[in-house]
Formats: sequence, C-alpha cells, structure tokens
Amino acid sequence: MKEALLYDALAKKAVKCRLCSRYCRIAEGKRGFCLVRENRGGKLVSLSYGKCTGLEIDPIEKKPFFHLKPGSKVLSFGTPGCNFRCKGCLNWSLSQAPCISLQAFDLPPTLPKDIARTAVAEGCSGVAYTYSEPTVFFEYARDIILTTRKIAPEKFHAFVSNGYFSRECFELIKREHLLDAIRIDLKFIRDDAYAEYTGGARLKQVQESIKRVYQSGIHLEVINLVIPGLNDSEDDVRALSSWVAGVGKDIPLHFIRFFPMHDAQGIKATPLNMLSNARKIAEEEGIEFAYAGNTLVDGVEDTACPDCGLVLVKRRGMAVLESVFAEASADEKKDPCCPQCGRTLNFVL
Ligand code: SF4
Repeated sequence: MKEALLYDALAKKAVKCRLCSRYCRIAEGKRGFCLVRENRGGKLVSLSYGKCTGLEIDPIEKKPFFHLKPGSKVLSFGTPGCNFRCKGCLNWSLSQAPCISLQAFDLPPTLPKDIARTAVAEGCSGVAYTYSEPTVFFEYARDIILTTRKIAPEKFHAFVSNGYFSRECFELIKREHLLDAIRIDLKFIRDDAYAEYTGGARLKQVQESIKRVYQSGIHLEVINLVIPGLNDSEDDVRALSSWVAGVGKDIPLHFIRFFPMHDAQGIKATPLNMLSNARKIAEEEGIEFAYAGNTLVDGVEDTACPDCGLVLVKRRGMAVLESVFAEASADEKKDPCCPQCGRTLNFVL
C-alpha cells in the first residue's frame, strides 16, 4: 500500500482522485470506482501497490504492438482492479476481482526492484503494464519504471490501456518521460454504447487521450475489439477508422476478434470475414497500417509499405516470421524507412 499521487483534499476529509477521467470524489473510509484506491483519514492510498499478478514473458505482438520492436520479448503483468467494468472483459477475474472478492489483495508484494531484475535476467526488451488498467496502479508502475531505469535504462515501458487516464496523469507521464509506448483500446465510436458496455465511461475522454498521446510523440497503437451486434456495422467501423485516420493515418489500427467472455457469453465469436472487412474499410478510410488480430488468417497481420507495397514484416498468430528490420543497423533503427522506396515508417526499432 502506498499514498496515491494526483489527488486533492476536500472538506470533511473527503478526497478527489485525479488519476483517471472518472475523477472520483471519495468520502473517508470509502474507495473509488476502481475499488483499489481508498480514503484513509483524508489520505488516498493505492491498495494494489506491489500486487503484481500474472507475471509472464510475452512476444510484444501479443499486446498487441506491431510497430514497437517487432519480435522482441516483453515482461508483462497486471494488478487487481480497473476503472472500467466491460461486459466481455478477457481478464475479468483480475480486473474486476475486487468486485467479486477482496482475496485478490492477499497476494504477497512484489517490489519494483524484483520486476526490474526479472526484466534484465530474462533478457526482455521492456516491460508491459497490462491485463488490467495500468492507470489504476500508476504509483506502482511509476516506481518500477524509475527503478528499472537505474539498472537498465535501455528497456522500454509500455502501457496497454483503455485510454481513461486523466489529462493530469498524462502530463506527469510526459514530464517524467515515463513511457515509450501506449496501446489504447477504442471500444466504440458511439458514446451511448461506450457508457453501456464499460460501466459509464465516455467516448470523448478516450478520444482526447488518443489525440494527446499521438501529439506527444509517444508511440501509439489503437485496437478495436469487434463485437458482433454491438460495434461491427459498416457505419461504425467506417466512422471509427475515419476518426483515427483524422488523428494520424500512420497510427497502427488493430481489429481484434471477440470471443464470448464474462457477462457477454450470449454473443458469438466475431466471424473472420467481418474482421477482414473491417481491415479493408479502414484502408479505404486512409489508415496505412490496419490489422486483424486473434485469427490465424494469412496476411491480415502483415505490414506492407503504404507506398510501394513491399511486405516489411510477415506475422502469423502473433509471431514474427520475417522482418526486413531484423538486421537493421543502429542508424537505420533511428530513422526506420522502407528499404525499397525509402518512405519513412512509423516504427520503433
Ligand atoms: S483511478 Fe479513477 S476510478 Fe480509481 S479512484 Fe481514481 S478517479 Fe476513481
């Protein structure tokens, strides 16, 4: 447990948390919406600090990041708690654990230095803060980043986020240069659907985060989980793609296959042709790097140069099969370009 960052003291020992766009006002003795931040006598504390869960070594493509050090290994973990209550959450037993049982908090603490040392010992290229929403364990993530930097400054740090971090939180991320990459889940392009599916989150806040991250120069990728009957219409896919292209045509956009989960068991898995269609629509709307994920369909995970069409990275099932960047020199890594036509490419190598 640790005192929280980014909160204000209010009258009668209440507090206002400014970490995410819910901006919870929390009375003494109560918790915020995420259920892992508690007001103790007028002091806001993080209950999930040190509660590392699901520590795994993953391919970076599993997050998914396709344009961040392709083919590299990343140390991944989450903690209990989330600021969303998504009906079809893949990791609901972790992210929504505090809603079900507080037993999740009985985990022995894992110190920031333990994560840093594991990343080094396992030869990972970086650390991914994932599975649940990293914003709600921000103090822990920040300490891990600052600790890792001391012993292995070359490691990257990436948030796999729902994009609901507050403006103030993102200002702190920028000011301290905490993150190299953020992957944001843009779930819907309709505000009513966003609120209904997530437990009250608003589209506009997520859109603001996407714009802020893109403009900051921190590497950004966006995913959209395509859920049959909820966000799979051509109008929705076109509007979402067009909006992302309006922010930046070079933002990698991943359409991810949905499988029935948690409180969305009644919805069938996304048909494969729907994902291929979404990818095609995104390209028509100007997206330069559109992908379909959670499938084993040939070609839908490959990266081609938007100008000359050369296949740059061949992937299948989240594994890199071939990459023109595999033997890139230090100079080529600084300014990734297509080896055939010379076009600049949005990659971090
Ligand atoms: S992180 Fe978000 S949901 Fe949690 S207490 Fe703070 S404002 Fe509320």
